[in-house]
Amino acid sequence: MSFSILGLSDPILTAVSDLGYTAPTNIQKQAIPVILSGRDLVAAAQTGTGKTASFVLPLLEKLNIDRKLRGKRIRALILTPTRELAVQVEASISQYSKNLELSSMAMYGGVDIDAQKQRLIWGVDIIVATPGRLLDLAHQRALHFDELETFVLDEADRMLDMGFIDDINKIIERLPAQRQNLLFSATISDDVRSLARRTIDEPVEISI
Ligand code: AMP
Repeated sequence: MSFSILGLSDPILTAVSDLGYTAPTNIQKQAIPVILSGRDLVAAAQTGTGKTASFVLPLLEKLNIDRKLRGKRIRALILTPTRELAVQVEASISQYSKNLELSSMAMYGGVDIDAQKQRLIWGVDIIVATPGRLLDLAHQRALHFDELETFVLDEADRMLDMGFIDDINKIIERLPAQRQNLLFSATISDDVRSLARRTIDEPVEISI
């Protein structure tokens, strides 16, 4: 099976092929059509399965189709448990979006908050963030989620293990009610399931 039948457009297919990917992985085959359809998703997938591309590629496709807000408002938010993962996911977004005019930014603590605020004033389409710094910026009114379309929780089980549940709830309260939710987790524990039930609307469930 090739990437071309999954509903992704040429600029994205070219970027993927330039990286040497010849066929979608299992999670990509299953997740990409669901995400393009607009449904919510809960996916059990480990790191190393190609899970990042499974949500980033369809996210880019959707943002690229609807260009009117490009570069102006945050339209996708990806929460990660650690700074390292935020950097890694943002680096993947940059690679996959190299032929598109979409901007992305990783946001995490321990670095100058004013530079991050300035970048937000210029405008960014996709934010990849750890919960603490995201809330700091939100409290300082540097973040506006009124045009947010997609919310992704990456490695949800690790986020809960690290004690981020209150922060996650506070962030969700700030998001528009009408949005697409995608939750990825290595394992779907009872806690992850309960978070999903509270956050996500009749999701498609995928387990690989
Ligand atoms: P992830 O599970 O997102 O951490 O991805 C693991 C690794 O697989 C990353 O280095 C990706 O660049 C790579 N990768 C993702 N999708 C594919 C694919 N369809 N073909 C080959 N490599 C891939």
